[in-house]
Amino acid sequence: MKDFTQSIDAYKEAVNLMPGGVNSPVRAFKSVGMNPIFMARGKGSKIYDIDGNEYIDYVLSWGPLILGHADDRVVNKIKETIDKGSSFGAPTVLENKLAQLVIDRVPSVEMIRMVNSGTEATMSALRLARGYTGRDKIVKFAGSYHGHGDSLLIKAGSGVATLGLPDSPGVPENIAKQTITVPYNNLDAVKQVFEKYGDDIAAVITEPVCGNMGVVPPQEGFLEGLREITKENGSLLIFDEVMTGFRVGYHSAQGHYDIDPDLTCLGKVIGGGLPVGAFGGKREIMEQIAPKGPIYQAGTLSGNPLAMAAGYATLDAITESDYDVISKKIDRLEEGFRRASEKYDIPIQVNRVGSMFGVFFSEKPVINYDTAQQSNLDYFSQYYRRMVEEGIFLPPSQFEGLFLSTAHTDEDIDKTVEAIDRAFASINK
Ligand code: PMP
Repeated sequence: MKDFTQSIDAYKEAVNLMPGGVNSPVRAFKSVGMNPIFMARGKGSKIYDIDGNEYIDYVLSWGPLILGHADDRVVNKIKETIDKGSSFGAPTVLENKLAQLVIDRVPSVEMIRMVNSGTEATMSALRLARGYTGRDKIVKFAGSYHGHGDSLLIKAGSGVATLGLPDSPGVPENIAKQTITVPYNNLDAVKQVFEKYGDDIAAVITEPVCGNMGVVPPQEGFLEGLREITKENGSLLIFDEVMTGFRVGYHSAQGHYDIDPDLTCLGKVIGGGLPVGAFGGKREIMEQIAPKGPIYQAGTLSGNPLAMAAGYATLDAITESDYDVISKKIDRLEEGFRRASEKYDIPIQVNRVGSMFGVFFSEKPVINYDTAQQSNLDYFSQYYRRMVEEGIFLPPSQFEGLFLSTAHTDEDIDKTVEAIDRAFASINK
């Protein structure tokens, strides 16, 4: 058994300092019946806790670290930048460089505004959509997570789903009622909503590949349908690519599926492990943002040089073929899961697109939040705890995917596949 003495002590201290002892609920490990593990350092595919335990890391800070921990190219760029000062409250050329890289690679983005988190990106994109269209209503999908802004914390996924708090107290009713929630992958439901409220809907916001109810890909024609319906009704289509951006593939999910959204939200990978979010899209819409236009949005530390440096170094380093390499590693993981599933007669569903990858303990295909919720959470918890013992660090929830980096080696995958076998063997039915 692993020794967690120091993590347990740190947690005892932390619960008196922070709600639940953490600064973000997903770190609490509550749903898998564990205490948080406090981390000390990471390098490449490995992460080390404060008791000195080593893990192969499939959390990667919940997605951003596509090059793995402390990649030399990223670290050196941050060091070189910090030596010149940490923030100026005035523009820097690094902001242009990261903006240009994103615009070059994400097909629909013609202009971009940097913010500090994915939450800020989606909140700002909604304000822009509402200001641009002069409409108030928003359509989102049950089980999608778009950060913790008031309008979006309705039937949300991620930590909200993990903790069973789909609608948070504190969101004013008159804001909540402007958000219409429909099941993912259900175009008929979207059509019905538009028949009723079409003239009032500012935007449909969606994760092009869901990652916050576990990984749930769009069914054929779903994203195309959303594009058509929004266009017909004068509403905007917002792709929340905070997770899928530069993760699904080199040109993000919109490149993979060849869909042209009006606005795109980004985060995670574009910050290379530092706090960055962004929203961007068509020039005509983006120019409504202040100071060019009247819709206000601002940030003391937005476009911060260190964050730009980390993001730029990450996007500059990653190549198209890196995504193929990651995908091939996922092929082998997938095989490992399928083999263990058959061998121990434990049904699973594997969902993946490019390097987005998730496994549900379920007999039925998972196509939306309802079907995701039918997964066997007891099996997941047992498997999860055993994987930690095996030195494999995974997102501690059935409703999250796994993240791989270019730093994961074939040996890491071999070890993980062996651990999956032992973890499945240990599940008490
Ligand atoms: N949108 C999506 C799709 C996300 O996955 C997340 C975070 N997991 C967010 C928005 C919110 O980003 P942040 O946690 O940086 O506020």
